[in-house]
Amino acid sequence: MAIVTPVSPGELAPGARRRLRLASPATLEPIDEIEVATAADVVAALEAARKAQPAWAARPVAERAQVLWRALDVLLARMDEYVAVIQRESGKPRTDALMIEIFAACDALAHFAKRAERMLRPRTQRLHGVLALAKKLHLVPRPLGVIGVISPWNGPFILSVNPTLQALVAGNAVLLKPSEVTPRSGELVAKLFAEAGLPEGLLHVLLGDGETGAALVESGVDKVSFTGSVGTGRKVGEACARRLVPCTLELGGKDPMIVCADADLDRAAGGALAGAFFNAGQVCFSTERVYVVDAVYDEFVRRVVERTRTLRQGSGGEFEIGPMIWPRQLEIVEQHVADAIAKGAKVLIGGRRNPALEGLYFEPTVLVDVTHDMAILREETFGPVLPIVRVRDEEEALRLANDCRYGLGATVWTRDATKGVALATRIDSGSVCVNDMTMTYGAPEAPFGGRKESGVGYVHGPDALLSYCHVQAVLVDRLGGRQTASHFPYSAAKDAGMQKFMRFLWSTPLRRFVG
Ligand code: NAD
Repeated sequence: MAIVTPVSPGELAPGARRRLRLASPATLEPIDEIEVATAADVVAALEAARKAQPAWAARPVAERAQVLWRALDVLLARMDEYVAVIQRESGKPRTDALMIEIFAACDALAHFAKRAERMLRPRTQRLHGVLALAKKLHLVPRPLGVIGVISPWNGPFILSVNPTLQALVAGNAVLLKPSEVTPRSGELVAKLFAEAGLPEGLLHVLLGDGETGAALVESGVDKVSFTGSVGTGRKVGEACARRLVPCTLELGGKDPMIVCADADLDRAAGGALAGAFFNAGQVCFSTERVYVVDAVYDEFVRRVVERTRTLRQGSGGEFEIGPMIWPRQLEIVEQHVADAIAKGAKVLIGGRRNPALEGLYFEPTVLVDVTHDMAILREETFGPVLPIVRVRDEEEALRLANDCRYGLGATVWTRDATKGVALATRIDSGSVCVNDMTMTYGAPEAPFGGRKESGVGYVHGPDALLSYCHVQAVLVDRLGGRQTASHFPYSAAKDAGMQKFMRFLWSTPLRRFVG
């Protein structure tokens, strides 16, 4: 059962746009139908955005930030409504929707509303050495223009709203293309900002699949902020390179967790469950593999399995584990588990689709006797599966943690915070949590971005907001241009003077002051 199926051309009126039918991942029942935006739709949206953007950019940042504050009010007032939309097309538990989508969005709105003015303020920077006597440097962040935002289905609201709010407050217009699997959650972003009073023309949501996404990248936008898989990210990156426009690529992960002998095992076991199973494991920085030192391995595994038994899976009322949101991802999870079993892994709990439920449910699964020749330890599984590896010591854990083409997040569990930081800084990943699982994306001041194949650029931290701007350098000559004007014509005497000046600056102890 596919969640997204094309409406057959025979059912469409001549000349009509393509349509996609959507089914619920929880019940497999039809829930929606969308019209796919064409390349011409994208170009029309871009033209409207280009018209609206200069007036928006001309407004003071504080005024633009007011729209973010109002969006926060709207979101707080309408959170139940928004959660219902997100749950309907993703099937995720209410708590996952509230925590991952709404709480994180509120936090990002408040964070950037409060700080945007300071982060985007033009500033002067003192130049070094003698240059400071002759020139003054102004650094002026200026919006790029129109930003293309392309988002995935696992965090369909937060991963659409977060880049959008940053791009907008930085003075840009936005064309947003949410995943075809969860289009209405993306549409909520337009609804949110319209109700918050964002001027018309600045934000366009274009529903559609990869074809619409590709058209957006090729449309002439000034930057692309892409969140999704490595494969698609590579295509987006290549297209942006051809067009010479910047892109931020937030891609997949295979995050390792290291459990040291001195870890609080109960907390570490709880962390492993939260890290692997929240949002049914469909989180880019979810815990995808655990390395436990020999001395505490048996006890850690026992506690993890014991806790996993208590987890509830379902679609109504209270439950912890929802369905897989996309059928292809469920197939990947099944392939990874089957490959692991065929190569000698042991399933301690779970390991199969939930036979009691209609939808795309995979049981929370714990695997042991796993090795690095298995896909489950090398490729992104993106499902509720926790493979646990016994290691001799922390050195072996580090070696295996780094034996991976991804480098998004990681976690280290130890009672010794100093040791935790020392180990963290030896893991080749964009961020690391010590004694916590889920906070990597939750601290907007912390740079969040991947290394290796996990991506390019940051979606959080001061660099993230500035990535929606070009920081223009304006250099003002304090001498009114006298120095440059006397440059021509050249002469041997001028060359000799320059050489003397260079030796004066850099061949004496003076260089420590003028460097
Ligand atoms: P995907 O790459 O299949 O799709 C992402 C988006 O790209 C969708 O909107 C899709 O329609 C669009 N798209 C498809 N083909 C395109 C093309 N040729 N050009 C432009 N756009 C195109 O990813 P997904 O399956 O929706 O999401 C899951 C992946 O996202 C996982 O790998 C996960 O790790 C990753 N992810 C990363 C982060 C992060 O912050 N690093 C966060 C969430 C998800």
